[in-house]
Amino acid sequence: MTETMPAPAPTPPGDRPALLGLGRPALATLLAGLGLPERAVRMRVSQLWHALYVRGARDLSELTTLPKDLRTVLEGTVRLARPEIAGEQISEDGTRKWLLRLAGGALVETVFIPEEARGTLCISSQVGCTLTCRFCHTGTQGLVRNLTPDEILGQVLLARDRLGDWPAPGTRGGARRITNVVLMGMGEPLYNFENVRDAMLVCADGEGVGLGRRRITLSTSGVVPQIPRWGAETNTSLAISLHAVRDELRDELVPLNRKYPIAELLAAVRAYPALSNARRVTFEYVMLKGVNDSAADARALVKLIAGIPAKINLIPFNPWPGSPYECSDWETIESFAEIVNRAGYASPVRTPRGRDILAACGQLRSETVKQRASERRRLEGEAATG
Ligand code: SAH
Ligand code: SF4
Repeated sequence: MTETMPAPAPTPPGDRPALLGLGRPALATLLAGLGLPERAVRMRVSQLWHALYVRGARDLSELTTLPKDLRTVLEGTVRLARPEIAGEQISEDGTRKWLLRLAGGALVETVFIPEEARGTLCISSQVGCTLTCRFCHTGTQGLVRNLTPDEILGQVLLARDRLGDWPAPGTRGGARRITNVVLMGMGEPLYNFENVRDAMLVCADGEGVGLGRRRITLSTSGVVPQIPRWGAETNTSLAISLHAVRDELRDELVPLNRKYPIAELLAAVRAYPALSNARRVTFEYVMLKGVNDSAADARALVKLIAGIPAKINLIPFNPWPGSPYECSDWETIESFAEIVNRAGYASPVRTPRGRDILAACGQLRSETVKQRASERRRLEGEAATG
């Protein structure tokens, strides 16, 4: 029967909690708290979920399947918005990069990498990073702040908007352009655990964004105590930024190793839920000339991970201004891959994508800085002419 809502007390938009990223139970609590009769809550949650995550509603006014009075109350209580696009670039190879301006002005980047049979969206979890891996430009920036669940999920929804990746009205839609999401943009996702988890659980939900846990990959530099927790609470696919096979070298490349050395990291990986040949963990290994790229390193690597269902992702080092390393020669990368392959591990070399727009791994800070400079010039130009 009637679901008449109490009149909303107006709240300024900035103070309103975000709707995106709330799970179904949180949405139910929200609606019940707004005075919706209990018998109506379930249905309204489903409608809301469908509108947000199947249809891609961008604004509260688009929630037209909800009764008008509920919409009005929601408008006074919560906010629904995408991150603001501060820049969009399309690489010669089809890679797209969005520079996003978040509340408070912080900038992060999201990258879409189209391939023949799939499309991978690389999203950020923090502005900057507290860790200081020596080959990573993001690591020179320090941490500015954690992203909220709606900012993390907002990257996926916004990419869908820009790629025209929502089903046409009245249809369930066909093949999706974004088939996979990887947490390999800026930041260490396990240091923003709850927010990343909440956003990814919405992403994985079969009735919403519908990506599925296996198509979501969390990449970590090795925050060991959080790995079993991530497995238990989300069980997405896992990637480990290994980069070195000896503690002495890994201490230098990934300073977090001093806290959580290789043996502890690998023990956590071995215990990750449901690993099998059909569901492998990925070891990321950045190829640094003369540092970690010898044949002996390759042999030590396969020995180290023996028994773990794994693939090894060799990443050619992407230089950035002032970076202390060089990328290994192509022949060196090939011989390294050959040794790993012969030991029975798939070892795709990650082709650098979007280098012309600085969208490749580890280059993400430089663009932010560059964009800021060009924006400054534009504003200065406007000031001079205006
Ligand atoms: N903080 C997480 C996820 C973001 S980094 C992590 O470290 O895993 C995503 C991947 O890019 C990591 O494997 C990281 O080691 C790699 N990477 C960082 N800087 C790079 C660079 N300059 N060249 C190539 N890969 C880089
Ligand atoms: Fe942070 Fe990952 Fe870069 Fe290391 S590689 S500094 S953990 S973003």
